Amino acid sequence: VATNDPILQITGLRKHFGGIKAVDGVDFTICRGDIAVLIGPNGSGKTTALNVLSGVYTATAGSISFNGTDITNRRPAEINRLGITRTFQNIRLFPELTALENVVIGYYPKGTVGLLGTLFARRRGFIEDREAAARARETLRLLGFSRFDIKAKNLPYGQQRVVEIARAIVSGPELLLLDEPAAGMNREETAALSEILYRIHDLGLTILLIEHDMSFVASVATRAYVMDFGQKISEGTVAQVLSDQKVIKAYLGD
Ligand code: ADP
Repeated sequence: VATNDPILQITGLRKHFGGIKAVDGVDFTICRGDIAVLIGPNGSGKTTALNVLSGVYTATAGSISFNGTDITNRRPAEINRLGITRTFQNIRLFPELTALENVVIGYYPKGTVGLLGTLFARRRGFIEDREAAARARETLRLLGFSRFDIKAKNLPYGQQRVVEIARAIVSGPELLLLDEPAAGMNREETAALSEILYRIHDLGLTILLIEHDMSFVASVATRAYVMDFGQKISEGTVAQVLSDQKVIKAYLGD
């Protein structure tokens, strides 16, 4: 259920790369229970904004507050521990590990992943932590996935995405950031992804995603923010922003 209770507040956010103003003074507030989507033409600054939010990049200016805590320029591991997790545009699973092992890795605080990844790679099929394994199974089942013991590299693309999302939520975050989760998916996989996002939302998570597939966006998002040239040019429901002249112009100029 969407609320008016802010979970993430972004104020005057800027990220410049030398002379490139990738994000150039953006304000937005995500409320608890939103499935919020960030849209905009290529190069409008969406991924950069997500990278600053998750601590991958430091901000040039501005502030980010999560649950009332200032998280501006904190390290990714710290932001992760505070309850924000994410997926990336390109799937980042350990190909030689099983689906279950990949999700188990997400159970541990970020920063230990490299070490555990190596450990699991050496001792494939062996999961030491029963609690982590139980949580990983439960999370995968919740997302309708039960092929626990198949190596990630042998799963179809859509299912690799599901495993990646399971890994992002197994630690029990409050805010999930997804960078183009439907990219490369066929129609069936995209429909399954909508179901998965609803289930995650039902668990009480707030979701912020970047997405290009407008019919997918229209089916899942409760709120939309549109960026163009590093600035926010519109916000509202998906229907509202898609009928906004500024948005139509931005896309036609793309
Ligand atoms: P979007 O996700 O909306 O397609 P991006 O955030 O990827 O947009 O890019 C916004 C702008 O910032 C683009 O002009 C892009 O070339 C530039 N940019 C992104 N990352 C970097 C970087 N690491 N170094 C320099 N320029 C970058």
